[in-house]
Amino acid sequence: MAKMVDVQKYAKRLKGRLLELNERLEDIEQDLDEPVNPDAEERATEREGDEVLENLGNAGLVEIKKIQAALARIDKGTFGVCVSCEEPISNERLEVLPHAARCRHCT
Ligand SMILES: [Zn+2]
Repeated sequence: MAKMVDVQKYAKRLKGRLLELNERLEDIEQDLDEPVNPDAEERATEREGDEVLENLGNAGLVEIKKIQAALARIDKGTFGVCVSCEEPISNERLEVLPHAARCRHCT
């Protein structure tokens, strides 16, 4: 019998990561909402900081989307199957990247 992908294990990890990302994004939003400093020089520094935060936020959002897609595949029963070639994604790959949608050949 072929070794089955332990979907529940990955579901747990994906959900944990999702919570973590959501919390981090909330923190970022709070930081971005802080009142603007009246001092011009300080303001420039803060703007740079805001950009860094925004980039972090965007990276987080991209990861959240991928995780949600992976959770949807779990619901549909297609988790661990490459969305391109429909071959199984290796456990080694899922171990590193549980939200992987494609096998390493199709990435
Ligand atoms: Zn593939």
